[in-house]
Amino acid sequence: MSYDPQPVASHYINGEYIEDTAGDEIPVVYPYTGEVIATVRSATPAIVERALAAAAAAQEDWAAMTGRARGRILTRAAQIIRARNRELSELETLDTGKPLSETLVADASSGADALEYFGGMAGTLAGQHVSLDGGDWAYTVRSALGVTVGIGAWNYPTQIACWKGAPSLACGNTMVFKPSEMTPLCALKVAEILTEAGAPPGVFNVVQGLGPVGAALVEDDRVAKVSLTGSVPTGRRVYEAAARGLKHVTMELGGKSPIIVFADADLDAAVEGAMLGNFYSSGQICSNGTRVFVEARVREAFLEKMTAAVQGLVPGDPMDEATTFGPMVSARQREIVEGYVAKGRDEGARLVCGGGRGAGAGFWMEPTIFAGVTDGMTIAREEIFGPVMAVLDFETEDEAVARANATPFGLAAGVYTRDLARGHRVVGRLKAGSCWINAYNLTPVEVPFGGVKASGVGRENGHAAIEAWSEVKTVYVSGGAA
Ligand code: NDP
Repeated sequence: MSYDPQPVASHYINGEYIEDTAGDEIPVVYPYTGEVIATVRSATPAIVERALAAAAAAQEDWAAMTGRARGRILTRAAQIIRARNRELSELETLDTGKPLSETLVADASSGADALEYFGGMAGTLAGQHVSLDGGDWAYTVRSALGVTVGIGAWNYPTQIACWKGAPSLACGNTMVFKPSEMTPLCALKVAEILTEAGAPPGVFNVVQGLGPVGAALVEDDRVAKVSLTGSVPTGRRVYEAAARGLKHVTMELGGKSPIIVFADADLDAAVEGAMLGNFYSSGQICSNGTRVFVEARVREAFLEKMTAAVQGLVPGDPMDEATTFGPMVSARQREIVEGYVAKGRDEGARLVCGGGRGAGAGFWMEPTIFAGVTDGMTIAREEIFGPVMAVLDFETEDEAVARANATPFGLAAGVYTRDLARGHRVVGRLKAGSCWINAYNLTPVEVPFGGVKASGVGRENGHAAIEAWSEVKTVYVSGGAA
């Protein structure tokens, strides 16, 4: 580690770091060692007020700039992030425990992708011209929503701040962002870099705190939109609070996504997808394909390859680039995962590998595979958010589709087959917001991402994000015909 992760102060408001020592202390724990590496303070009501007031004061002038001028700032921020990728990746690793081999390629760089993509798009925002009867006409203007709130989960703190901040700012909104209290460091860097890139004070602010701070932001009358990445129960609470104020929402919530592996699939590719969709970031990814439906006649071959691939993972010091598997984010999250592993055993699933903690001082959990899982088992129904994969058998395409869809969630789904007609036919029937054919968990910023059913409302990324962060004003003009 080349620098001290302790931030200058806890919050970033109006273009500068701000502290309020009246706020409760939040220790920042490095998941690899369990040590406290920094301390921030929860936002007091005075800090929340200051952040919202700053965002409100900055919004009109920010929206009045041309899209291209806003875009130039976002693009510059992307360039700064890329230039500092290593430092930011180390910070992400300290915040989350994810190995540097991941954070160097998937976090700050993904945030930069969003800033670059939406920065480029900012100058293209435009309305329509509509000819009407009698020489009348109308035009539409794509307008900013106003002050927006972003609330993040702990698994991808840099990416989440950028996936929300970049499209919001591109559309002329300002933002107050609250990271998860477990990973408070990275969003502060995003705010600092936006200022360095030329964002006026108040355009992107960060306040720390737990749920009640998020709730105070959501309930404020000045806020026009709330975008949450989090669990389904939190999503319901935030959606309800936003609905009372008739605010716009984007809800990126949990999942229990299926991967369907047909007997004709390239099994090595399917194993690669299942590895990515279960063990990357130690399984702490919302779109993970944690119900792996394997056509019965290739189940043993699949399990054999899968077990070999898991044995190839390298747990260890997350700062060592050779490490490919890190600890869980917290002791609490590991406890939750251990509870599910115990339920898997008790309910009769066959433990193929893992199940224990593994060695080390941090919050380690071994990559775990259960086979012989049936649809009613708890590990097949509930989101675990850890490195636990459930393998289920199937015989026919219709059966696989019906069982894959038999869940309240609908975030993602994957299909592995060499029969592309079948691949398209099956994803056509799967009820999920993001589907992959012969791939899994690839989420480039160019394509919309989000869930159906309990997995969420609205979409992040792609052109769809512009719809989510702006609204249309219609102007009817009389042509003056007698
Ligand atoms: P939580 O739902 O516990 O928290 C999400 C965020 O909401 C946190 O910042 C939390 O604050 C805040 N929060 C909690 N209560 C309220 C409230 N009443 N009002 C406003 N804000 C509130 O999720 P986790 O952080 O534990 O993240 C894991 C979950 O996130 C998983 O279920 C996963 O599926 C989901 N997720 C979804 C993704 C997607 O894109 N669909 C991506 C990544 C994760 P704090 O925790 O600081 O108290």
